[in-house]
Amino acid sequence: MFFALTQMNERISASDYTRTIPVSCPGCNKPVFLKKGPKIMAHFAHYAGAECHQFSEGETPQHLLGKQRLFEWLTKLNIPVEMEAWLPELKQRPDLLVTYQNRRIALEYQCSSIPFARLKERTDGYMSKGYEVYWICGMDYVPTTYTERIAAFRQKNNTLICLDSNQNTLHMYHDLHFDTRNRLQKKQFSIILSDLDFPSFETLFNKPQPNYPRKKAAMTYQNHLLLLKRKDAVHRDFLLDIYLGGHTVHSLPNYIFTTPSKTLEFCQPSYIWRYQLLAKFRKSITVQDLKAFSQAIPQYDALYLHEPLEPLLEFIAELERAKVLKRLGEKRWQVQTKEY
Ligand SMILES: [Zn+2]
Repeated sequence: MFFALTQMNERISASDYTRTIPVSCPGCNKPVFLKKGPKIMAHFAHYAGAECHQFSEGETPQHLLGKQRLFEWLTKLNIPVEMEAWLPELKQRPDLLVTYQNRRIALEYQCSSIPFARLKERTDGYMSKGYEVYWICGMDYVPTTYTERIAAFRQKNNTLICLDSNQNTLHMYHDLHFDTRNRLQKKQFSIILSDLDFPSFETLFNKPQPNYPRKKAAMTYQNHLLLLKRKDAVHRDFLLDIYLGGHTVHSLPNYIFTTPSKTLEFCQPSYIWRYQLLAKFRKSITVQDLKAFSQAIPQYDALYLHEPLEPLLEFIAELERAKVLKRLGEKRWQVQTKEY
């Protein structure tokens, strides 16, 4: 933390502190001490063993530096900003609190892992009291593979925003998608923090990104075989379903197994819900059916709920091309051929 309290309850910044008076943590009131050195930014830290709920996480050098960078950036832009402000109505302490055009915006710089429930609780807390919040991730969140924590922070516009505090550079990862070999692909836009104004910063989080058509491919025979060896409960149930239906993985039509089988929304491979969808709707399908069906597919926990209908509609389009479905108006399809 950069600010501690004196015994007179006054805020004192680590850079002004001369170690002459005792200071305490504004969160838990326990004594704290100054840490400072050629490679360490001046900041306050708890003594070993102190448990603190407000400053317990993430006070790594990377996190401290990032907070400082963001603070300096906003100050240079003449935007009112407060560091480590205490919001009593929320019992929360955002890294930075920005006042911009009568809006109150919390900026959180998340470097360490955070349980999803906690992340959601903090975000909902801000929203419930009229604060907006932007979560900026640390460089441990660069999306090289798709993990639960990446899914959690995926922004409304399908981007992930990471701050490299050492380089003072903000990275926007966008166009996240899986290729036909189920590897996560992304594009990257990077900008030095000081070159960015606040409205542009906000567009990184909010501006809708173009949705490019994706390549599809048939699953290889080899991967079909690998699938048969999967021992997890989800795959065991799936393989049993197929068996009880009198089929084998190899006898099912190709369009069930189109790759990528991974999606950003669902934790299950798409061939499982594709199979179930066609097994369930034997005569016709409506958009309403798809919506209800999509709710039953296990999804990643995410701060921003993404319309889970998109992968299903892509599948419907594939089925139309394969002449399995025939479109009847805007929101309804008829099953033409039943292959299983
Ligand atoms: Zn504390």
